[in-house]
Amino acid sequence: MDQLLIDKIVDHLQKARTVLLATHVFPDGDALGSQIALGNILRSLGKKVVLFGEEPVSHLYDFLPGSDRIDLTSPEPAQFDCAVALDCGDAERMGHDMERIRAIHPLIVIDHHKGNEGFGDLNWVDPARAATGEMVYDLAFALGAEISYETAYCLYAAIVTDTGSFKYSSTTAETFRVVRKLVEKGVKPAEVAGHLFDNFTVNRLRLMQEVLATLEIFMDGKIAVIHVSQEMYDRTGTTQTDTENFVNYPRSLIPVKVAVFIKANSKGGLSVSMRSKGSDCDVTRVAHRFGGGGHRNAAGCRFQDQSIQQVRDLLVAELRPLLDSACVEQV
Ligand code: AMP
Ligand code: MN
Ligand code: MN
Repeated sequence: MDQLLIDKIVDHLQKARTVLLATHVFPDGDALGSQIALGNILRSLGKKVVLFGEEPVSHLYDFLPGSDRIDLTSPEPAQFDCAVALDCGDAERMGHDMERIRAIHPLIVIDHHKGNEGFGDLNWVDPARAATGEMVYDLAFALGAEISYETAYCLYAAIVTDTGSFKYSSTTAETFRVVRKLVEKGVKPAEVAGHLFDNFTVNRLRLMQEVLATLEIFMDGKIAVIHVSQEMYDRTGTTQTDTENFVNYPRSLIPVKVAVFIKANSKGGLSVSMRSKGSDCDVTRVAHRFGGGGHRNAAGCRFQDQSIQQVRDLLVAELRPLLDSACVEQV
């Protein structure tokens, strides 16, 4: 951990009076958990805080205490003397109000995405950390702030989400150091897991049936692809939100090295989630090739004006050579 950088971030946050907290579009548990938690931490230090979100919190995450604080109003840069972007691998991930957020100074970036080039005035980017929530915990400590039960709950949910319940290779001793403290604050792992994973509506399960039926296998099972079309959402009364975690099913196949999920999105295009196992294939290499980003084992990108089949063929063509040479390379 770069103590000098943390000290500078602490200094800026201590001086600030009104802080905007932003995260990435289509926020996941790490994004929302980190944002709400840092909001609580800064409020406990007497700051005025706005938690900006481009869209309402999805029904999958509205159990997070404080999720009702997400404010959809476009931020007015002059009203803030500091902004923090959490869990955003690049500025575009902040969505259509990106320029307004970038107009606030200092802009502090706290993130763990590989390839984050640092779009802020101060950039704490550490790809070795399993979740932004882990980093927010350490920042709270550096700020000398008390972690409330609600804050601990949000940070715990952030870390569970991004580690796939402590299953991904990003999980480290640091992760357990932090979650131990959070559980000591009273967070009940079974309760959070219940909210995060046992959260299906009948419609969502019907969507899953349809999505799993689309399974296609390539390279003797090294690549597994599933997809969801707008028609499937319409038939089952669901939206893209309901597809959260579906990509873990093709990932769970024994021979699979890379799982791909191609999803119709609300903007009329396609969003792709990729997951790889272990150190065999770095999926950010494919995501970057198509303008996306992420982590070695979890990455994504978007396509406009192409069919599901075209996107599938493009991705499989990019993945083939990586998996052929597999695994020789350790990045
Ligand atoms: P997801 O598959 O949406 O859960 O995302 C996996 C990882 O890839 C997360 O860390 C995301 O922030 C990142 N990611 C997903 N989609 C994109 C995208 N279009 N551009 C950049 N990063 C992305
Ligand atoms: Mn995220
Ligand atoms: Mn994250």
